[in-house]
Amino acid sequence: MEKITVVVPCYNEEAALGAFYQEISALARKMPQVLFEFLFINDGSRDKTLEKIKFFAQQDERVKYISFSRNFGKEAGIYAGLENATGDYVVVMDADLQDPPALLPEMYRYIKEEGYDCVGSRRVDRKGEPPIRSFFARTFYRLINRISDANVVDGARDFQMMNRDVVQAILSMKEYNRFSKGIFGWIGFRKKWLEYENIARVAGETKWSFWKLFLYALEGILAFSTAPLVISSVVGLVCCILAFVMIFVIIFRTLYFGDPTAGWPSLVCIILLLSGIQMLGIGILGQYLAKTYLETKRRPIYLVRESNVKKLPCHSREAQISC
Ligand code: UDP
Ligand code: MG
Repeated sequence: MEKITVVVPCYNEEAALGAFYQEISALARKMPQVLFEFLFINDGSRDKTLEKIKFFAQQDERVKYISFSRNFGKEAGIYAGLENATGDYVVVMDADLQDPPALLPEMYRYIKEEGYDCVGSRRVDRKGEPPIRSFFARTFYRLINRISDANVVDGARDFQMMNRDVVQAILSMKEYNRFSKGIFGWIGFRKKWLEYENIARVAGETKWSFWKLFLYALEGILAFSTAPLVISSVVGLVCCILAFVMIFVIIFRTLYFGDPTAGWPSLVCIILLLSGIQMLGIGILGQYLAKTYLETKRRPIYLVRESNVKKLPCHSREAQISC
């Protein structure tokens, strides 16, 4: 019998977990042709999330959990989930029921019967979202697709079912700065998109503020595109050309019309503008350098404090003895 692993990254989800577990186990009963494994990743929650998961695990042996030593972010949670999943197919789901479990049978059917490697989901509307947020989100998607080969689809969620090839492909990308939306798009493979309308969170609060989303968007651009570097070079080049033209104009003017020595304010403006552009360029360069610096440290993507998963990868505490 084939097995589906449901990976659920959880951060302070005590309010939503009960409903989630009920829904997903009800769905598992509707799919008797497959085995299920529920792999909860407790991403350093500060509430009773871990206790809840452990409670499920006591009663249900399909429930596995990995609890991080601190909050490493959803991306790390997804990575840990994929790394420790034992199923033939893996599906990543949020704990807040915004990803409808009812789509699972359809996803499974597309992979099994129609030969897709991966079935993703995207929400087709942004109902209930502030318009300014939607505007920035849309702009971000347009921008990142133009300047990178990550192929990020607007509205795409992390909710997707993958076969082993896709899981392996994602795990082979071992970067520390993980931008999952980009990674999922970058790997390619045959992907089917299911569309659904946005669903509100069942309980608890979203972990994303506008500022966090903005930084996340910048992360994505830095991780998947070097266009900002090209742009800063082009701006530098344009400034140089402009400066040369101006030098010629001034020489010409001085030779033919004499030099009235005006223009102190314009000089200050030009110096300010150019030094501003220079600092911007250095800043962009610095961002890439910082990312490279973090990558070269080769730090683990996550650290485990507690788990009931048997074979943990080498960098976790429990596994160190046997590695
Ligand atoms: N999450 C996580 N670590 C974090 C932030 C979020 O594991 O640092 C989990 C969270 O528990 C949820 C999922 O990622 O299951 C999506 O988070 P959220 O619902 O806040 O995001 P949204 O659906 O609003 O994009
Ligand atoms: Mg959510």
